[in-house]
Amino acid sequence: MNLLNSDYLQLNSDFYQKVTPEHFPKAKLIIVNKELFKKLFSKDVDDFSEEELSKLFSGQQLFSGSEPIATIYAGHQFGHFNPQLGDGRALLLGEAKVSEELFDVQLKGSGQTPFSRRGDGLSALGPVIREYILCEAMNKLNVPTTRALAACHSGQDVYRQNGLEDGGIFTRVASSHLRIGTFQLFHSRQQYDHVEELLNYAIKRHYPELSNIESLSQRAKSFFSAVCERQVKLVAKWMSLGFIHGVMNTDNMTISGETIDYGPCAFMDHFQLNKVYSSIDRQGRYAYSNQPKILQWNLARLADCLIPLISENTDEAVEVLNNILKNINTLFQNEFEKLMALKLGVTEIKMMISPLINELYNELENTHHDFTNFFIELEKGTYEGSFKSSWENYLKSSNIAKEDALKTMKENNPLYIPRNHLVEKAINRAYEGDYSYFHELNEILATPFKREDVKVEFTKPPTPEEEVKQTFCGT
Ligand code: AMP
Ligand code: MG
Repeated sequence: MNLLNSDYLQLNSDFYQKVTPEHFPKAKLIIVNKELFKKLFSKDVDDFSEEELSKLFSGQQLFSGSEPIATIYAGHQFGHFNPQLGDGRALLLGEAKVSEELFDVQLKGSGQTPFSRRGDGLSALGPVIREYILCEAMNKLNVPTTRALAACHSGQDVYRQNGLEDGGIFTRVASSHLRIGTFQLFHSRQQYDHVEELLNYAIKRHYPELSNIESLSQRAKSFFSAVCERQVKLVAKWMSLGFIHGVMNTDNMTISGETIDYGPCAFMDHFQLNKVYSSIDRQGRYAYSNQPKILQWNLARLADCLIPLISENTDEAVEVLNNILKNINTLFQNEFEKLMALKLGVTEIKMMISPLINELYNELENTHHDFTNFFIELEKGTYEGSFKSSWENYLKSSNIAKEDALKTMKENNPLYIPRNHLVEKAINRAYEGDYSYFHELNEILATPFKREDVKVEFTKPPTPEEEVKQTFCGT
C-alpha cells in the first residue's frame, strides 16, 4: 500500500522532525473506516488481512513511500502563549492523493517524538474510541472535520490518572494539519521568511484560487479573509448543532477550517448558554455561547502573524487586518441565522428572523430543554412551549407552507447525535473488551437525519444517573 512521502518534507527542515513509531508487537485492529479507506487508496479493505491492517495502523509496518515526521507548532492555550508545542503523540505518515487533493494520514498515540515534552506520546483507548465516534458523526452531520480512518488496541498499557489503562492508536485523516499555531511558531521566532513559506504552502493546499495573486501583501490579505470565512462557517455550524468544542486553543484551529481535536468536546443535551464540559476549562472560556467570540480572538492571533507580510508599516497592516476582523461578527451572524432558519424550516429569509431566533434561545435557556430534541418535537408537533405559536406565526407571515417547512426541517435537524452518555457507554464497554456497542453506535450515527425505524434509546437525553458532567482531554 502506497502513501506519498509527506508534501511537508518540501518545506524548510525547521518545520518538522523525522520520527519512527514505537514498537507495539501486540497491536490489534479494532476498526477500519471502509468507505474512507476506499476513497484514499482505491482498494477494498476486505482484500487485506487483519494482521496486515493491524500492523499498518499501529505503525509497525510503514506504507511504502512513507517517511514519518512530527510537525512543530506553537499556540495560545486558554489564552496563554506556549511558544513551542508540536506533535507530541502524533506522527504524520504521509499523504494520500485523491484527484489532485492531498490528505494527511497521521497516527495518534504511536509513541514519543522530539515534541513530547514530558508526555509519553501514547494514548489511552478511551480517547481513541471517542475521537473515532465523534469525527465520523460530525462528517455525517455535514460538519467540516478531520476523519477517522482506523483505531487499534495498542496492546500496551498506559499510565493515567486512574492508574494503568488499555492503550490505543488512532489514525486520523485531515486535509492538512496546519494550524493557526503553526503560523504563530515562526512569527514568534521572527522567522518571517518561514511565515511566508507557510503562507504559500497553505494557499497551495487549501486556497489554490489565491495562488495567482502576485503581491505578497494582497495574497496574505486574501488568505486571511478566506480563512476567516471558513472558520466562521465552521463555528456557526457547531453552534447550530449544540456542539461545544471545549479546547478552542489556537493550536486546535486548522487553516483548512476542519474541526480538529476531539478531547473534551460534547454535544449539549439540556440547553444552557454558558454550558462547559471540559474539566480543565474552569473559567468557562470555551463555553457554548463564548465560541463565536473566541473564534474572533483566535483569528486575531492569525492576523498578528500576517502583519509583517502585509506591510512594513505596522499601523497600515493592522488597519487592513482589522477591517477584515471587524466584519467577522456580521459574517457569523448571517451564517448562523441561515443555519438556524433552515432548522426552523425556512430556506429563504424574507422576513427578519433574528427576533424569532432570540426567542428560541430565551426559551431554551429558561426551560433547559434538550437542544436536539427541541427541533424534532417542533417538527413532530409535540412541542408545547410558547415558542411553537411564534414559530407558526412566522411561517404564516412568510407564506411558507407547513409541509414545506417540515421537509426542510427533516433535512436539517438530526435525530441522532453522539451524546456524551452514549459515547461513554461505548468507551466503558471497549475497556471491557467488547466493541459491539461502539460498532452499533457508529452505525446509528452514520444516518443522523433518518426518520424511519427510529431507535428511541439513541435519541433520549441522559437520565440524571447517566449524565456525563465533565469530559477530559485524556492525554
Ligand atoms: P492536545 O490537547 O491533544 O491538543 O495536546 C496539546 C499538546 O500536548 C500537543 O502538542 C500534544 O502533542 C501534546 N500532548 C498531549 N498529550 C500528550 C502525550 N500523552 N504525550 C506527548 N505529548 C502530548
Ligand atoms: Mg491539539
